[in-house]
Amino acid sequence: MAPTDQPATVGKHPCPECGADLQWNAARQALACPYCGTVVPYAPGQALPGASVVEQDLQQALSHPASGRGWGGAAAGEKREVQCQSCHAISVFVDGKVARRCDFCGSPSIIDHPSLNDAITPQSLLPFKVSDAQMRTRLRQWYGSRWFAPNKLKSAALTDTLSGVYLPYWTFDAQASARWRADAGHYYYETESYQDSKGQRQTRQVRQVRWVPAAGSLAHFFDDELVPGTAGVHPALLRQIEPFPTLTDLQAYSPEFVRGWTVERYQIDLGKAEKLNQEAMQQQIQVLCGRQVPGDTFRNLQVDAQFQGRTFKHILVPVWLVSYTYGARSFQVVGNGYTGAMAGEQPYSWVKIGFAVLAVLLLILLMVSMNQ
Ligand SMILES: [Zn+2]
Ligand SMILES: [Zn+2]
Repeated sequence: MAPTDQPATVGKHPCPECGADLQWNAARQALACPYCGTVVPYAPGQALPGASVVEQDLQQALSHPASGRGWGGAAAGEKREVQCQSCHAISVFVDGKVARRCDFCGSPSIIDHPSLNDAITPQSLLPFKVSDAQMRTRLRQWYGSRWFAPNKLKSAALTDTLSGVYLPYWTFDAQASARWRADAGHYYYETESYQDSKGQRQTRQVRQVRWVPAAGSLAHFFDDELVPGTAGVHPALLRQIEPFPTLTDLQAYSPEFVRGWTVERYQIDLGKAEKLNQEAMQQQIQVLCGRQVPGDTFRNLQVDAQFQGRTFKHILVPVWLVSYTYGARSFQVVGNGYTGAMAGEQPYSWVKIGFAVLAVLLLILLMVSMNQ
């Protein structure tokens, strides 16, 4: 994309009442003006002017790393990037309004990150669907179900800062074609005689395998394979709140969606993500070929796979995040801003666990004494 036509929507979607920049409002599922409150309806699937979800050629992007960069701030100078000195996550603020603490770990030590404008522009995103009030309700339920969490934590649920953050993801498409060869194993049974423990002769069926060489080929289309680019959210938590419905519900990127929210800048770059994607596809192809081998089992599976027409998108997905420190450790609770799925880390209260163990022991003691 040429720099002139790239942020086509930038600043072109002002509030009809006061002319200020509109922001995405999760509770109303519409664009709203943060100053005068005017709401501009937004139907899902309706592309904002000049925006569409497009796949980009992977080969070309890797060999021409300068195209498709920049974030589309209202003006180039308004965007700010900061990096957390504690967890190293980099946050981007399209409207230049920087948070005082790191959204990912709560640390106050954040410093300006040189914004080199080398970041690949997000092409599309999932706008927030779960509002912060809905997420707070879920959060309260989640804390309520943590039996062994310290009480201090539960009271914190109502006051903790809840941050809405767009996380960076890469998605990849590819047409795969593979040839495979393997030894296909067919089971058959032979009758064997043996002596049992009483010295009697018995017979039994023993499974044998007949190995036959086999070969084949397959074609498979990989559609929107996801690779996270985040450094801020712990990977194990992220896996628990996936999936994000990126195949069906993506909207074309427009700064209106991210203005007023925190956006994390990816730290797994396209080159790294592409390799992770290639490895994941290779593993899946291996499994798919394995399923094609005839017979009951197989061995020595060799797969030669080619991936053609590889394309990618850089997308943003919404999460709600609470981070807190307890003792010396930092914990995260994460909610999927689209589906509402939740996952979290928690400290354990050893006092409560101790009492629970004691109660169980007493119960066992009681039952034993009643049976006597
Ligand atoms: Zn307004
Ligand atoms: Zn941090």
